[in-house]
Amino acid sequence: MEATIRSGKTEVQAQRSYFEQGKTLSYESRRAALLKLQGLITAHETEIYKALEADLGKCAMEAYTTEVGFVQADIHHTLKKLRGWMRPKRAKTGWINFPGKSRIHSEPFGVTLNIAPWNYPFQLALAPAIGAISAGNTMVIKPSELAPHTAAVLEVLINKNFDKGLLHVVKGGVQETTALLEQKWDYIFFTGGTKVGKIVYEAAARHLTPVTLELGGKSPTIVDKDSPLELTARRIAWGKFLNSGQTCVAPDYILVHEQVKIPFVQALEAEIERSYGKDPVSNPEYGRIINERHFERLESLLADTRILSGGKTDRNRCKIAPTIVEPDSTSSVMQDEIFGPVLPVISFKNADEVIAEVNARPKPLAMYIFSNNSEFRNRILKHTSAGGVTINDTVMHMSGAHLPFGGVGDSGIGAYHGRFSFDTFSHKKPVLTRAFWLDAPLRYPPYNKVSLNFMRKLLKHVL
Ligand code: NAD
Repeated sequence: MEATIRSGKTEVQAQRSYFEQGKTLSYESRRAALLKLQGLITAHETEIYKALEADLGKCAMEAYTTEVGFVQADIHHTLKKLRGWMRPKRAKTGWINFPGKSRIHSEPFGVTLNIAPWNYPFQLALAPAIGAISAGNTMVIKPSELAPHTAAVLEVLINKNFDKGLLHVVKGGVQETTALLEQKWDYIFFTGGTKVGKIVYEAAARHLTPVTLELGGKSPTIVDKDSPLELTARRIAWGKFLNSGQTCVAPDYILVHEQVKIPFVQALEAEIERSYGKDPVSNPEYGRIINERHFERLESLLADTRILSGGKTDRNRCKIAPTIVEPDSTSSVMQDEIFGPVLPVISFKNADEVIAEVNARPKPLAMYIFSNNSEFRNRILKHTSAGGVTINDTVMHMSGAHLPFGGVGDSGIGAYHGRFSFDTFSHKKPVLTRAFWLDAPLRYPPYNKVSLNFMRKLLKHVL
């Protein structure tokens, strides 16, 4: 018997009614909701770790730094800054509006939807919610069905403690998400793959709903000949094999200067062994692949490329060792985002080759350049595009609250984190207040030559 698919209609109605009663508007109500979320996460920390362990084999260190701690830090920062962010911002008022005052108000959109992926299932369900709540919106969160333990913890944590009208979790897969997307939302925030991103964008367009699309892509990592190889290898191995390579901003492939390719690969192998031991698939600190389908997808990538190191797989535990490969131009590993612990290494001769290789693919979510040569770095930066860049490290540009995090082109639309999350979930409403005590008659009909000539001279100088 087919299960009944929930339409999401009652959730939207409950949230619209809550929003329209003005319950999300005050600073106090937003602060109270954020404090409640903060307290609940602390109270349920052990269950969250267990769920992340069950879904992805995440160890406590990774679960804390990339999920729980990340979200808590974001709440902490938001609570500290919220009052200031909410204040209308002054803008200049040109002479044309004299006497008058210009302000930009941050107005909530209303009822929002967050569709989350499975790779950081806790962080990516809640980080957008912090932005939505702080900006005075309500939110329905749809966690990924592929991380069911985390989805279950989120459901209990949120639905037992928050008014359904403010924050609510709706679990489900493709059918449930499709039903949710049929409703009219005031904002949709989506994190996932480019293919589903297009489906979400189309559904949003039917209601003219604005979106943020946090997507993926093949993030290039460039290693120049003057880069300190040991530290470079360490930073790359960490960013790549964290969460077993299932990170949207993980280095997808390496472009290394031909003069240092061999010592770089040796440094990378040494770093992998130092981090995960001789048998990473048996290491409890090394995560697993989310499910069999992805395990098989990654195994098939290994089948048609030359393996330089690693390559061990364990189907029962859904684990694949950190693996360095040397692809050729037709290898399937160079076609789509890898999203797993397989790292292709390709050599280059000069900056032009790097630029051509990067620009041959859709715009990536992240790019990493390891080089002490500012001319080389600037040339690459100027002639390529990426959602975000870290120079001389990996992943870290998305770790703080002070840089916007998002994609460009195929890797996404919009950005968030810290202040940028608040801005993402706010309509920036310009408000001009005119005074009554002066009124230049020139713009009013009936018009004459004098007023037109006067306007011609005036408009150049008064905006
Ligand atoms: P996905 O696109 O398969 O799924 C994401 C969400 O969409 C899930 O909640 C899923 O239930 C829903 N969904 C799946 N198919 C759907 C459909 N046909 N119609 C409606 N909804 C549907 O992505 P994923 O496999 O969960 O995550 C991996 C992808 O996400 C990678 O490409 C990765 O790079 C990207 N990602 C991006 C970021 C970022 O911040 N930019 C972060 C994490 C992951």
